[in-house]
Formats: sequence, C-alpha cells, structure tokens
Amino acid sequence: MATTDAASTDPDCLFCKIVAGEIPATLVHEDSHTVAFRDLDPQAPTHVLVVPRRHVPDVAALAHEAPEEVASLVEAVAAVARAEGVADDGYRSVFNTGAGAQQSVFHAHVHVLGGRAMTWPPG
Ligand code: AMP
Repeated sequence: MATTDAASTDPDCLFCKIVAGEIPATLVHEDSHTVAFRDLDPQAPTHVLVVPRRHVPDVAALAHEAPEEVASLVEAVAAVARAEGVADDGYRSVFNTGAGAQQSVFHAHVHVLGGRAMTWPPG
C-alpha cells in the first residue's frame, strides 16, 4: 500500500526499509501515510512505533513538509491504541526528538506505550 514517492525515502534508513518490507517487523496497522509495528525492545506490554511512510528525521520536519500527514500519524496512534485495547485505560505517545532526548532512529516515529501504569516525570 505504499503511496509515498521514492524521493521521500532514504535507502539507508532502517524504518524506510521496514516500511518497504525489506526488513521484517510485526506490523499492527498501515494506511496510506503511516505504518505501525511492534518495537523490538518493548518497554511496556504494548509498545508500538507509528511512523510516516515519508522519510523525515522528526515530527517537526513532517509538520513542515506535509502537515496533513501529522494528523494521519496521530489518527493512526489512536487506532493502534484502540486495537491494542489500551485506549480506555490510557496510553503514552512519545516523540524522542534529537540525540539528547534518546532519539536513535532519525525517521520520525511515535512510541505508543500502554498496558502498565505510567509514571511522571518520564526518565
Ligand atoms: P528512538 O530511540 O526514539 O529513536 O526509538 C527507536 C526505537 O526503534 C527503539 O525503541 C528501538 O527499540 C526500536 N527499533 C530499532 N530497531 C528496530 C527494528 N528492527 N524493529 C522494531 N523496532 C526497532
């Protein structure tokens, strides 16, 4: 269901490779703008990454380049939370932005965490 043009992908990007199906991942949702898959190193019973198909380094870049795709990303987060059964109890959506905030993959993504009690402030 890929709809994003080739110019908006990066052949060296891990998440672009997952979006393209070149690297295996456990997909839980996909639509025309987003793909969601389980995090390899889950930090909660539900830990899903929701990513835009478009290669951009972070969500601010997505807002600049394709603002309507930010709305799609957030709608996909809500759909994943419902499908995972964590929407009613509550879940956390996290954008790590920049190396200082522990971003390690520079393709925009939202962590969707749920299924356990959350603490605040986050570490
Ligand atoms: P961040 O540190 O915010 O950039 O998040 C990147 C996330 O990607 C981490 O939580 C990793 O566990 C996760 N991750 C890395 N490689 C994979 C992979 N091949 N499949 C699924 N999740 C991955």
